[in-house]
Amino acid sequence: CGIFAYLNYHVPRTRKEILEILLKGLRRLEYRGYDSAGVGIDSGNGKDWESNAKGITLIKQRGKVKALDEEIHKQQNIDLDVEFDVHLGIAHTRWATHGEPSPVNSHPHRSDKDNEFIVIHNGIITNYKDLKKFLESKGYEFESETDTESIAKLVKYMYDNRENDDISFATLVERVTQQLEGAFALVFKSVHYPGEAVGTRRGSPLLMGVRSDHKLSTDHIPVLYRSSGKDKKSCSALPRKDQDTSLFPVDEKAVEYYFASDASAVIEHTNRVIFLEDDDVAAVMDGRLSIHRIKRTAGDYPARAIQTLQME
Ligand code: GLU
Repeated sequence: CGIFAYLNYHVPRTRKEILEILLKGLRRLEYRGYDSAGVGIDSGNGKDWESNAKGITLIKQRGKVKALDEEIHKQQNIDLDVEFDVHLGIAHTRWATHGEPSPVNSHPHRSDKDNEFIVIHNGIITNYKDLKKFLESKGYEFESETDTESIAKLVKYMYDNRENDDISFATLVERVTQQLEGAFALVFKSVHYPGEAVGTRRGSPLLMGVRSDHKLSTDHIPVLYRSSGKDKKSCSALPRKDQDTSLFPVDEKAVEYYFASDASAVIEHTNRVIFLEDDDVAAVMDGRLSIHRIKRTAGDYPARAIQTLQME
């Protein structure tokens, strides 16, 4: 029912800080209602973030975010002081639609026992039985009763059957969404794409928050900035020539990205948000955010904009 993800790019954060940000994000979403919660983070305890990202740890618990917090602190092999220069953590509160509330049915769901791909999902996949049948016929083994697990398996299927080695994470996710029916907001993480995140939605809300002290460059994203001080000059969104947009800190500087199902979860970190629209695939790679809209229908899209939210 609630999605929260946090990507720090060249902003050093300890695992403890990352987990605190994730759990705080989930607490802000608690009011939406839920029965279980979970997180997915990098496993490694080494010095370099890239090798630490070669494994994913999943911690999931039935009940409140507090129960998840307790479960995290019970983990023996997690060193909370390890620092990550780049890291993606994803977190979820679940309101079960398919499968009872239990740790195995909680999100993130995984592609396989090695946690190569993980995904968090809000919504319902109505054709999951067909997808499951297809994937089982290809040898994928399911462990939960959820509709969501078929998405985690499907992204690995797309990866295992890729036609070239440098296929992007965003392309895999696009292929997955083309097979999905129903409503969804999704965020993916993978050991094959360290430091990268892909989020997409159709029918369920998903937004992104962006935070950087550095100047951000944009291509085709009309940016609504609030000028400093009391002078709140409002700008209107510029007409877009193209639906595909990208945003990046100039010179590969530090930037932080948040995904959330609700702005209330990111407002304490940043007031620059982008509300994703149906069939947007938003991918963060090398600190750069690119948003691509899959289906192109006739007519104008509403302008996508970084909006400035008022801090309460
Ligand atoms: N349909 C999914 C499940 O039952 C996601 C539910 C949700 O939005 O939390 O696990």
